[in-house]
Amino acid sequence: MTGWPVTHSRSPMIHGYWLRTLGLKGVYEKFPVEPDEAVSFFSSLKSEQPEWTGGNVTIPHKEAAFKACDTLTGEAQRLGAVNTLWVKDGQLHGANTDGAGFLANLDQRAPGWDRKTGKAVVLGAGGAARAIVLALVTRGMVDLTIINRTRDNAERLVDDLNIEADIAGVHDLSKVLKGACLLINTTSLGMTGEPPLEIDLAPMKSGAVVTDIVYAPLETGLLAQAWAKGLTPVDGLGMLLHQAVPGFEIWFGQRPDVTSELRALIEADLERV
Ligand code: NAP
Repeated sequence: MTGWPVTHSRSPMIHGYWLRTLGLKGVYEKFPVEPDEAVSFFSSLKSEQPEWTGGNVTIPHKEAAFKACDTLTGEAQRLGAVNTLWVKDGQLHGANTDGAGFLANLDQRAPGWDRKTGKAVVLGAGGAARAIVLALVTRGMVDLTIINRTRDNAERLVDDLNIEADIAGVHDLSKVLKGACLLINTTSLGMTGEPPLEIDLAPMKSGAVVTDIVYAPLETGLLAQAWAKGLTPVDGLGMLLHQAVPGFEIWFGQRPDVTSELRALIEADLERV
């Protein structure tokens, strides 16, 4: 796992749990890489074989990793960002598994979420929002509205991904939420140390799913409100756990499960900080 910083990454704990419970040999370690050294770090990876099979990339290196790859999955190609790397046949391969992790989390925690009728509203237009919007479109969501503090960033997202989506301003939030069946917060608002997300979920459709990709705290103000209003809240920890599955399967040859035991392990660690 590389990024800058990587001190608080839970990925070693997640992959360490799977290595242990599946009885596999291997290690998963953190490699902090300063921004100035990212290009040379990624270009050196192919020569690290066979000791190095692959790894994850987090901010701010996802774009540098993308540029270093010889081969990319369709999602990584469209997103211009890579969070999973591996070497095969002398080539550096890159994938972006954030969208798959997001969908798998909703499938597990709110089954049938994608069969509800109504619009989906995405708050935010950063790197995570890109992966999530692309995943929603791929899953067949056609009625999609993006709201972001900086409207230009939402417009760039829609242009870059070449998708159909409405863009609305923050002041239109209440109007946009009317009748919505899915709300996703992809901004950092509500995270420990960040300002709260100011929102009233009252206009949403009954039974709507509300998910926050912020997972520290696990129950954000947004999710607490969804719970109190009888909506279906889904926290962001599952996305983190599920996005790790494809990488582990590629590197170690076995598809791991996102179990309640793994979730409890990471939850306990989040509570310690
Ligand atoms: P990013 O690329 O920096 O995007 C940040 C987004 O938040 C942008 O839309 C930005 O709006 C918005 N924002 C930031 N501060 C704001 C404020 N004060 N008021 C209104 N909007 C604000 O970050 P990212 O990589 O997408 O990550 C976003 C969050 O998702 C982080 O908290 C990250 O930890 C979390 N995350 C979770 C997972 C998971 O697996 N659960 C995966 C990835 C990320 P502007 O465009 O106006 O700047």
